[in-house]
Amino acid sequence: MTNGQLYIVSAPSGAGKTTILKPVMADLPALSFSVSHTTRPPRAGEIDGQDYHFVNRADFTRMRNNHEFLEFAEVHGNLYGTSLKAVISQLDSGTDVILDIDVQGARQIKANKDIHPVTIFIVPPSLAELKKRLTGRATDTEETIRLRLENSLKEMASLDLYDHVIINDELDEAIEMVKAVILAARSRAKRNRSGLPVPEFIGS
Ligand code: ADP
Ligand code: 5GP
Repeated sequence: MTNGQLYIVSAPSGAGKTTILKPVMADLPALSFSVSHTTRPPRAGEIDGQDYHFVNRADFTRMRNNHEFLEFAEVHGNLYGTSLKAVISQLDSGTDVILDIDVQGARQIKANKDIHPVTIFIVPPSLAELKKRLTGRATDTEETIRLRLENSLKEMASLDLYDHVIINDELDEAIEMVKAVILAARSRAKRNRSGLPVPEFIGS
């Protein structure tokens, strides 16, 4: 069994990462989304166990002290972490896994010599458009939006950390580009579009 590939997707808040990843996940088989743990309160419409595992600080701290996170970080004043066990078991079963995590988390994983992620950074076409999207999403207070915009500028400075940078101007094009990166990684690992290994007679 070939191990799955780990993908890290990061973006300044509001750039459109969630909007892009939903159709990508729906279109490509053998691709699973790692549901993070967070101390952030759920937004309207978010489902516990699907969008995030919503936990309190005490539970998050207990998990962190038990080394249950592959990586964790404080982002915009809330704690976020990726379950080590969930990611490893999916990769071991041959499924590709997408992590939607911030730059700090990407750095931690890149420092781990046993893990070889393919990394993607999604950027908005402009700062003005990012502001418009954050405001238009209408899920955050003015103060939260201000904090997220401020952090966005810092995150943009880490662009060089990533293998691929995709501009989310036209949504359909950005979706196609993310899919293209995943399909290219599959072909590099001698797997087909669905993530299955190519038959053994090829190349023998
Ligand atoms: P993120 O997950 O990166 O924080 P979202 O996916 O929630 O961002 O997108 C933020 C807002 O921008 C949403 O209201 C979404 O509908 C909108 N949006 C996303 N991509 C585009 C795009 N290419 N053009 C216009 N609006 C977009
Ligand atoms: P949001 O609150 O908008 O869902 O996410 C805020 C930021 O936290 C985003 O940049 C998102 O990628 C990041 N994030 C979500 N889950 C994790 C995680 O498990 N680890 C890290 N490091 N960042 C995360």
